[in-house]
Amino acid sequence: MSAIDDLPPLREVIRRHGLRAKKSLGQNFLLDLNLTARIARAAGPLAGVDVVEIGPGPGGLTRALLATGARRVIAVERDERAIAALEEIAARYPGRLEIVAGDALDFDPRPLLGGAPVRVVANLPYNVATALLVSWLTLEPWPPWYDRLVLMFQREVAERIVAGPGGKSYGRLSVLAGWRCEARILFDVAGSAFVPPPKVTSSLVSLVPRQAPLVCERRALERVTEAAFGQRRKMLRQSLKTLGTDPLALLELAGIEPTARAEEIPPEGFVALARALVAR
Ligand code: SAM
Repeated sequence: MSAIDDLPPLREVIRRHGLRAKKSLGQNFLLDLNLTARIARAAGPLAGVDVVEIGPGPGGLTRALLATGARRVIAVERDERAIAALEEIAARYPGRLEIVAGDALDFDPRPLLGGAPVRVVANLPYNVATALLVSWLTLEPWPPWYDRLVLMFQREVAERIVAGPGGKSYGRLSVLAGWRCEARILFDVAGSAFVPPPKVTSSLVSLVPRQAPLVCERRALERVTEAAFGQRRKMLRQSLKTLGTDPLALLELAGIEPTARAEEIPPEGFVALARALVAR
């Protein structure tokens, strides 16, 4: 692919700014322009959209998002070494790249948003990827400030996010994601596409918020899924005993067979259990 912009190649950016990848920051960079463009396209169309990018690093995906036509990119990066590299991109796209130096786990984009649709697009640092996803899935009020999440995860995590009942990947994360979003895997990316290459394959996941998910208290949902999947091979009449209330009454209120096991229950069933827990 020919260059998408007139900025220097990413390898040169990395060398000039001393951006040797740090494991502690979950740094596995994408330097292939075809791939960053493919991710940006998969998140699109981006015209008129504000993108929140977590962990832009040397800025390969950031550049693809801007070149693909995002109205603005708000990029949150914890590695101070990357900020100067990102400032060069901001100079190339005046007024369209806002760099936030800090920890994405503490970042609330809402004060920076201006009424345009907002999408989160990121090749996430794997060490905080699940924590970030959970924070976005449990936002209040709902629907949230974003219209879609397009995120790279290790494939095993991606499979847990999109799993439905009945398999071994189905668990607490699947219930949370399925309760509030429609989630699917867009495509896989081989480890060899990253620098340095991780041992495992990654997957790009799309999560689109449900506009009217069943109402339920997040804390109660966490408690029932924790109890049920904590002993996933046991029947619910047994595993739910840890909730400190009569499991049979709870299951009856939720309309669920006492002999069922956690992995057979769809997200709606867990929502019903959470509501029953609050009602008791
Ligand atoms: N987006 C770049 C790419 O695709 O080449 C880099 C992706 S790399 C997997 C993850 C990035 O997240 C790194 O740049 C890392 O410094 C950054 N990062 C790690 N932890 C972070 C945190 N808590 N908040 C913000 N950025 C973080």
